[in-house]
Amino acid sequence: MNDYAIKSYAYNKEVRIYAASSTHLVEEARKIHQTWPTATAALGRILTVSAMMGLMYKEEETITVRVKGDGPIGSMLVEANAKGEVRGEISNPRVYLKYEEGPKKGKLNVGAAVGSGFLHVTKDLKMKDYFTSSSELQTGEIGDDFTYYFALSEQTPSSVGVGVLVAPDMHVLAAGGYILQLMPNVKEETIKKIEEVIGSIPPMSTLIQEGKTPEDILHILACGTEQILERHPISYTCHCSKDGFARSLSALDEKTLHELIHEDGGAEIECHFCGKKYQFSKEELEKIRDDRKKVE
Ligand SMILES: [Zn+2]
Repeated sequence: MNDYAIKSYAYNKEVRIYAASSTHLVEEARKIHQTWPTATAALGRILTVSAMMGLMYKEEETITVRVKGDGPIGSMLVEANAKGEVRGEISNPRVYLKYEEGPKKGKLNVGAAVGSGFLHVTKDLKMKDYFTSSSELQTGEIGDDFTYYFALSEQTPSSVGVGVLVAPDMHVLAAGGYILQLMPNVKEETIKKIEEVIGSIPPMSTLIQEGKTPEDILHILACGTEQILERHPISYTCHCSKDGFARSLSALDEKTLHELIHEDGGAEIECHFCGKKYQFSKEELEKIRDDRKKVE
């Protein structure tokens, strides 16, 4: 079964709910970045929420989510679009931290791996400017941080649940999540009902471990009132190209480009999102330099 997200209304259109299964795309991210379990969970949670957020936008619009904490992971960046495509990068993929004690003993300690810091969301709505909103990380567990972000930066009371389950051999067993948002017309009794449901719903990691589908999760959250609007595939997709990197090279300063041509005799560029490597020969670099001069 491939990854997908569903978008729906519930409670007589007073609530909007997105739910996703993202096991394959998180596993793809793990393979590309060679992440260790806690890093897999952290990046996987951001990828999952971002994939659902991407579906809130139109056609060519994109969002970039940055989580910058003071924990060992450092920073993570995820891009998402309205086509359900996500890609991400992580500064330190080698993090494997578990809770040492308490009720979560033995579980992945994503909060400590991320640390304190900020969540930034930049929207590229294909107008002239970018729009960035930021909020402080609450626990570093990602779900809580997005819940706070939606309330603070988008003035949309929301609940975000997300989980990634990693096997002892490090591969991703299951991943998924939901975003529940209250619409402006929401009634007081509906809010009460939702508070009850969210207070009693098992953790996302438990639900996905039990093999619950996005439809099952939606059904629990909506108490049977769901009206599914659309099902959308989601995937880890990188559209990088040699042309794109040629444009980046052409933006380098004269000295750096000169060094690549005369000292290194070529360049190899690796995409931070998918790990694909692109080779530029000395001649290709000279052409990039000469074409630049023509434009000037
Ligand atoms: Zn790439």
